Formats: sequence, structure tokens, C-alpha cells
Amino acid sequence: MALLKQFSKVLSFLKKNRNHPFIQYQLKRSGLSVDDIKDYEDFKKIKIIGRKDLADLSKDIDSYLKLFEVCPHKIFESPGGIFNFLFDKYCQYRFYKALEISSFGACDVVINTFAYHLTPAGEMFEEAAEKIGATVIPVGPVSSEKCADLVVRTKATAFIGTKTFLKKVLENLGDRNSLLKAYLIAEKITEEERKELAEKYNIEIYQGYGTAEVGLIATECEYKDGMHIDDELFVEFLSVDHTENVKEGELGEVIVTLLNEKFPLIRYGTGDLSKYILSECKCERESIRILGIFGRTDSSVKVKGVFIHKWQFDEFCSANSIAGRLEVNSDEEKFDYLILRVNSNVKDIHKKFKDVFKVSLKDVIIDEKIKENEIIDNREYLKKR
Ligand SMILES: [Zn+2]
Repeated sequence: MALLKQFSKVLSFLKKNRNHPFIQYQLKRSGLSVDDIKDYEDFKKIKIIGRKDLADLSKDIDSYLKLFEVCPHKIFESPGGIFNFLFDKYCQYRFYKALEISSFGACDVVINTFAYHLTPAGEMFEEAAEKIGATVIPVGPVSSEKCADLVVRTKATAFIGTKTFLKKVLENLGDRNSLLKAYLIAEKITEEERKELAEKYNIEIYQGYGTAEVGLIATECEYKDGMHIDDELFVEFLSVDHTENVKEGELGEVIVTLLNEKFPLIRYGTGDLSKYILSECKCERESIRILGIFGRTDSSVKVKGVFIHKWQFDEFCSANSIAGRLEVNSDEEKFDYLILRVNSNVKDIHKKFKDVFKVSLKDVIIDEKIKENEIIDNREYLKKR
């Protein structure tokens, strides 16, 4: 497997950090010690740790924090009740590298539209823009009208956020747009959408891939032909049952090992499905590229940048004594929306849903035939590159 070229750095990282309590924890739960890991086949015996495992660890913050050697600078909470700890400013999330590659620079005035409270996304890009010397406008989640107004009044040059929100802001701006570039994560942008926005608004759009736990995983270069995997990671692509390494161009789950001495996340199962390619990129960077995210391994979905997990949805249905089917759809503008079908009426269900999942339902339909909880993703554009 071509990815193995990079495995030697994992071995030396494990040896160097062998006493880190989180590495010890990961090995112990797999019945292993650092000395047992001599090659990639041994490494594969380390159990994959997923979002559900992190949610379970988050139930007892004292024992969770004992798995780390230093106190965190910040504690965030991601959907699903997961605590995300920031131990190592700039080096842990590393999105400054993505902004540099995306031609963001010291003269840019950056509109950061990711949330600044609870979840880490706002912070990830705040520190990234700060490190490259850009000026940040900490916008967070506001209306697209307010955001457009700020772009005009500050003469902002760069945007960070999701595709859905960028489109709304650009529509509001029309010919008043001063944004020259945008960096998007959490929602896929298709090539036709990118081209359309570039032609209409004269804006260059880069996209990347990352998670609340790992920070930057992969990002596009100037040729925008797949996303280069960051070199501080070791990434595996496994079959959904985790028994096999998938081949180049095949769909597999992205399993990430973050080589950070303060937050050594070993074999983290993102639950995201992607494909890798080995062909050389025109930019001559040697890192392996991935071709976007094509869905999830479980029936969890990501809507407007927010995760909705099946286990979380089950808990929601059980708490409200209902069976429910959650449908994720997209309109012709590729805006996502949610329809919830439930077998019986629940008072204030729109508000209750928003409180738990942080996204709104477009409609709730009573359907007595619903017997089992289900999440169905009908978004066709996710299947496109
Ligand atoms: Zn490249």
C-alpha cells in the first residue's frame, strides 16, 4: 500500500511519545503495548476510536482529561455531547496551512462565519487567520443580510464558512461584492457550482476537509484537483467493516492518526467516506490526495455543517416517545433542508429538534405508518465529485 511510505513516521512518533496517557489508553484498550507495534500490520491491531467513543469519554470529564498531560486552553462541545479539547494553539488544528495554500495572506480582511461559541470551528479559523497575519472579522452565525453589510462596510476580501451561507451572502451582495476568495469546509461544493460562482461574482473558491477532533485533514492546492492530505497526519482508508485497506479510487472510511505530541489521536475513525488518488498533482506536492467526501459509514448525516448522528436521533425519538424518519433533501440551488416524519404529534417539536441538533426542520409530517427510526439522505449532489 502506497500510503505505507509514511508509516515510519508513525512508529517513531509512538516510540517518542510512548508514555503519553492517551497513547497508553488507546493501546491498553486494544491489549497492546508500544513495543508490540513493529510494523503497519501490528498498528492495525489498535482499535479504532470513533465519535461515539469520544462521546462516552465525555460523560466523565475528570477521567477524560486524565488522558492528557497538560490542561487544555479551551474546552468545546460538538454535537453529540463530545468535548473537544484545544491543547496546542496553531499546531493542533493547523488550518493556517490551508489558508496559506488558498492564497489568503497578511493583507486579507477575513469574514469568519463559523460559530465562536461551544463548537471549535470559529476558533480553528480565527487562530489560522491570526497566524498568517490576516485581519479577522469574527462574524459567527448572523443573517446573510448582516454579513453582506459587514463585507461592504469593512471592504472584506476573504470569506470563511459553508457553501450554503456563502451563496446567500453573495446573493445579498450582488454587484457590491468585494470578496475575492473563499475557503469552505463542512459542505461539498461541486465543480459546476464553483464555476458558476466564479463567473458571477469573480470569487476564487477553495475547499478543505477537517473535523472538530482533528482540525485540518486535507485541502485543495491551486489546481483544485482533489485535496492534499496534511503531512502531520497518517491517514488510512478502510472498508466499512475495518477489515481491509481499500485500493486507490475505491470508497473507504477515513481513519486519521494525528501526530501531535499534546493531542496524539491514534486511529480516529472519522466515519467519513472518501477515495484517495496517488497520481502526481501539477503542483508537485508529494502528499496523497482525496477526492472529497462521499457520505458517511453509518446513517449519520452532516447538514449545513452540523452532524446528526443516528444514536443521537434515536435518543431524541425515545425522549419524545415517537418513531421518526428524518429525510435530508436538497433543492435545485443545492440548499439542504430537513423533513421529519413522526408517528405521533409532539408539542413544540420544531423547537425541541433545534435545541438538540442546532439545525431547523423545514417541515414535520405525521405518518402513523412509521415504525422504526431512520435517517435517509436524498442529496444527489453528494454523489458527484
Ligand atoms: Zn496539488
